[in-house]
Amino acid sequence: MSDYIFAPRAVPSLPIVGADQRYAVGRIFCVGRNYVAHAAEMGSEVDREAPWYFTKSCHALCQSGQTVPYPPGTSNFHYEMELVVTLGRSVFEADLQQSADAVHGYACGLDMTRRDRQQDGKDARRPWSLGKDVENGAVIGAITPQDDFGALADQRICLTVNESIKQDATLTDMVWSVPEVISHLSRYYHLGPGDVIMTGTPAGVGPVVAGDTMRAEIDGLQAVTHYLT
Ligand code: MN
Repeated sequence: MSDYIFAPRAVPSLPIVGADQRYAVGRIFCVGRNYVAHAAEMGSEVDREAPWYFTKSCHALCQSGQTVPYPPGTSNFHYEMELVVTLGRSVFEADLQQSADAVHGYACGLDMTRRDRQQDGKDARRPWSLGKDVENGAVIGAITPQDDFGALADQRICLTVNESIKQDATLTDMVWSVPEVISHLSRYYHLGPGDVIMTGTPAGVGPVVAGDTMRAEIDGLQAVTHYLT
């Protein structure tokens, strides 16, 4: 007899480039404003004192290459192309070196957002859950292990919608570096394998509609494709 009164959801997971085994996803942390030009287009500034976060359920994970329905409850559904970091080591109250060493790998991702519901939250000073924790709203591609990728530098981060370039920046445009984000987050969480961080989006966010094709690319990583129907 099962221990549960219903069948539990499957463990969300991601493929790893060059490996047969997959990366089991536990938590998904998302950095708020992390590119100056995107903060400006949203009418605000990057917080220089510390990064800040929201979360998505791991069950919002969507594999690359999927066709998913336009979500309910929005008429302004936006893409946000992001560098995704996966952790491979347990860290708590980590310094920058420990934080860098905790990285398992990198992937391309899309933080899909009900922008209208996020704005409702901002206006009412309420949480962003309906805006950000969207079913199929954490689109993440295959993970390239850190050792194979090399150092984060001025790699291009680029998103096209229906062949038209919408976001185009370099990873050096990030205000808070990956080790800085991990170090800061590790003051609040016992981080470890299974923890995934979406590191914020460059400028150029915008709406997509049913029928649109998104392609998210970062130099050195496998591209993500995502289709709305
Ligand atoms: Mn985002």
